[in-house]
Amino acid sequence: METSRRRLGGWGFEGEAYPPSEQLLTWLEKRLGPALNPAPPKAAPPPDLAAADLGDVAADISADPIDRLTHARGQGLVDVLRIRGGLVPALPDGVCRPRDAEEVAAVLARCAERDIRVIPWGGGTSVTGGVNVLAGDAPVLSLDLERIAGLTALDQRSGLATFGPGTRGPQVEAALAEHKLTLGHFPQSWELATVGGWVATRSSGQESLGYGRIEDMVAGLDLVGPDRRLRVPAHPASAAGPDLGRLVMGSEGRLGVITETTLRVRLRPEGAAVAGALLPDFDRGLDAVREMVMDGLSLTLIRLSDASETQVAMAVGLAESRWTPIVGRYLGFRGIGNDACLLLFGAAGDRDTIDDRLRRARMVVRSHRGVSLGRRPGRHWLRDRFRHPYLRESLLDLGYATDTLETAAPWSRAVNLRGALRSVIADALADNDERVAVLCHVSHPYPDGASLYFTFFFRCAPSVGETIARWARVKRAANDALVASGATLSHHHGIGQWHAPWLADEIGDEGVDLIAAAARRLDSKGIMNPHVLLEPEDRLEA
Ligand SMILES: Cc1cc2nc3c(=O)[nH]c(=O)nc-3n(C[C@H](O)[C@H](O)[C@H](O)COP(=O)(O)OP(=O)(O)OC[C@H]3O[C@@H](n4cnc5c(N)ncnc54)[C@H](O)[C@@H]3O)c2cc1C
Repeated sequence: METSRRRLGGWGFEGEAYPPSEQLLTWLEKRLGPALNPAPPKAAPPPDLAAADLGDVAADISADPIDRLTHARGQGLVDVLRIRGGLVPALPDGVCRPRDAEEVAAVLARCAERDIRVIPWGGGTSVTGGVNVLAGDAPVLSLDLERIAGLTALDQRSGLATFGPGTRGPQVEAALAEHKLTLGHFPQSWELATVGGWVATRSSGQESLGYGRIEDMVAGLDLVGPDRRLRVPAHPASAAGPDLGRLVMGSEGRLGVITETTLRVRLRPEGAAVAGALLPDFDRGLDAVREMVMDGLSLTLIRLSDASETQVAMAVGLAESRWTPIVGRYLGFRGIGNDACLLLFGAAGDRDTIDDRLRRARMVVRSHRGVSLGRRPGRHWLRDRFRHPYLRESLLDLGYATDTLETAAPWSRAVNLRGALRSVIADALADNDERVAVLCHVSHPYPDGASLYFTFFFRCAPSVGETIARWARVKRAANDALVASGATLSHHHGIGQWHAPWLADEIGDEGVDLIAAAARRLDSKGIMNPHVLLEPEDRLEA
């Protein structure tokens, strides 16, 4: 089973690593000071917490301590720190792996009778506390969907493919490749995240510009709640009342379990390529991105790093080559200096199509005083894009903590929002006399605006508990600033436990009540993942 190779207390698979370059460490040391407190090196043994007796709610319940620990937390920085530090406060009382939707329905009905809480578990890659078990709660069953996986139906003529919820990214693409098709959904967590998790969190992949977000791909789905089931049939389009599929997308296990999803798939392109360029500064970079989207250049991805992220990209060798010194002098001559921003842009299709689309994008770059870097940075990025998450664990080993958060804003507010958020994050630990280094990029542009994705770094404190407290201060400050500015709490990570107390600020009390009413209808006892979405309490340090 693939899960046996998964790293506990860290991203990905055992034996894989992405160590930081010397230049990156120098960059961090210059901004944050020397790292003094390495995080505990690897997962501590599972806490000795007795499992409540779940009776016969499922035929096959695992109470194995490692299985319970694996399912106790997701993949947020705090989850990793808690597992490494032996500070996991609670474990699920059991893990069950149903084989089909009927078994899911039976398990949920029995759990409702016995007041057992159920947390649907896809790939466990949540970075919002979405699968976390809380101390002092009622008994908890983790419902791992890995056995309901694979391509179950294909309507090739219509480009509709139906998948089980536990199907992971590589399984999706492998199954579709046999039919010369692709989904085109490549979140950075692609290797481990599942179809059910994508739908439940409204995920967005790195090539969303070309293929859309997951909600653009969902044609129909089935949801099983403890009391009722909901079937949203697949139609190319429909005006039959409000779109109930949209109610389920983003429901994070709160309404029930997504047991089947029919996705819109595309013909697999012959090839794909990503090219790079440098723009003089972020504002001009944003203008170029906006123009590329408005002009409909049919690119599959665009990713614009701010100047800080560009420096880090250079530090990991993304835009480096043996020509770097010469290029540096040339850029200086063209007026591109320390504010330079790296832009990556990609296209898919046959060779002529790719060449044509990248050429048109380069023309836009030039019209904004940018300089093309060719395809080398793109090749480098494509090679490493699913390895970057391993960097977090390597930095923790040394004593630097890193995490990300994301939002979206209309074009008219993107520049100001980026500046405001950067300041809030950078100053969040000033009372501790600690600095926070912040990077930002735009990677999901739309006609009316774009996502803003922030990566931040700070030094680990002497204890894991204090490091978690530092992180929570940054998150609280950022969540407060997001809702105060009217920006969204999340562009694609979802709400989970960690954004939930701020949700009413974004969608209003009426919005929260409507979701709660839907949850009551499908799950009258409120057993389904009850601490996500609608949880008023701040659980950042729980
Ligand atoms: C390194 C890293 C990179 C990431 N990059 C991206 C990215 O590029 N884009 C992006 O969108 N996200 C990204 N994420 C976040 C995460 O991968 C997504 O939220 C993903 O969609 C979660 O899928 P999962 O299968 O792991 O779900 P889980 O983490 O298992 O669950 C997430 C939530 O969905 C619920 N859930 C899961 N399956 C079901 C189901 N079948 N029915 C009902 N509810 C269910 C859970 O109860 C939980 O509330 C990243 C995370 C990490 C750690």
